[in-house]
Amino acid sequence: MNTIVPFAATLTDRRGRPLRDLRISITDRCNFRCVYCMPKAVFGRDYPFLPKAEILSFEEIFRVARIFAAHGVTKIRLTGGEPLLRHGVEDLVAMLAQIPGIELTLTTNGSLLAGKARALRDAGLDRVTVSLDALDEETFHKMNDVDVPVSRVLEGIAAATDAGLAPVKVNMVVKRGTNDHAILAMADHFRGSGHILRFIEYMDVGSSNGWRMNEVLPSGDVIARIHEHFPLEAIDPNYNGEVAQRWRYRDGSGEIGVISSVTQAFCSTCTRLRLSTEGKLYTCLFAESGHDLRALLHSGSSDEEINSFITKLWTARGDHYSELRSSGNAPLKKIEMSYIGG
Ligand code: SAM
Ligand code: SF4
Ligand code: SF4
Repeated sequence: MNTIVPFAATLTDRRGRPLRDLRISITDRCNFRCVYCMPKAVFGRDYPFLPKAEILSFEEIFRVARIFAAHGVTKIRLTGGEPLLRHGVEDLVAMLAQIPGIELTLTTNGSLLAGKARALRDAGLDRVTVSLDALDEETFHKMNDVDVPVSRVLEGIAAATDAGLAPVKVNMVVKRGTNDHAILAMADHFRGSGHILRFIEYMDVGSSNGWRMNEVLPSGDVIARIHEHFPLEAIDPNYNGEVAQRWRYRDGSGEIGVISSVTQAFCSTCTRLRLSTEGKLYTCLFAESGHDLRALLHSGSSDEEINSFITKLWTARGDHYSELRSSGNAPLKKIEMSYIGG
């Protein structure tokens, strides 16, 4: 293994944003077919998922992650597709957990978490985010389009808690007309649990979910609906550039967050870079194309060459898609979320 170049400093892009977060998609496959992410009509039986030979190995991911850590990355999130479908994911966690100064997290649909939470924690995972779009079976099914019971995800959250991964962040994508009636029940369920429920505005990621603005419920409306029953007050972010806006229940029963990617773009503080399953780097969730890191890895490049590739890429970055969307000037061709990683 090459040694890590010690001089790599924090990089900033053309808009002065540092590189802090790396999201690594470890599989493009999923056992759910969420209508807003992998609709069955597009991701059917014959969908050409990546062949095994084309996905980055754990050793390659580890090597790249160490180089990014030397560039100032402090947070790594494993995602997908469904990351818990990747065979041996806990071994990858154990490798990444060795990198000093990195907070290691994972986002999952929760369906396989009950059986894996302990192994993930033991391997060194710091935190977990679980996606859950409703508590009643009918609405949950309408959102994910598969026959997994809600109880399976709740068991996953309980197992994560027992394993020491609490508080768990619970992500609910809100699609107006499909699951927005489930907001209050979700808020009520997680109040007082210690977990942090976060409501995400339905986004126009990829080109297959048929996104329409009238299916977005603005976060302001989510807060108003909850506030009417359980009074809320805004609280300060934990750190500069935090994506979720935080609110707490006035009665002291915990906090929630809203992620307003559509109605209040947060590009100006976006410090995230994404690594796809097959090793392409994307400087924005809405990028039209990626930058081929795997080719470099496979051609025997040194750490220094990879370093300079990353430096060029980040210092040239000017992405601000969500701001462009607000002004009606956004590009139309985009990468699918299940491939690039959420
Ligand atoms: N399969 C895992 C899961 O669902 O948690 C990880 C990958 S998923 C792509 C990551 C996150 O993106 C999930 O919380 C999911 O709800 C969110 N997501 C996917 N499509 C979205 C969309 N169109 N708008 C907003 N959030 C979306
Ligand atoms: Fe799968 Fe996650 Fe996409 Fe749902 S949001 S289809 S669980 S990758
Ligand atoms: Fe970051 Fe792109 Fe999202 Fe803006 S649109 S917050 S630049 S990922």
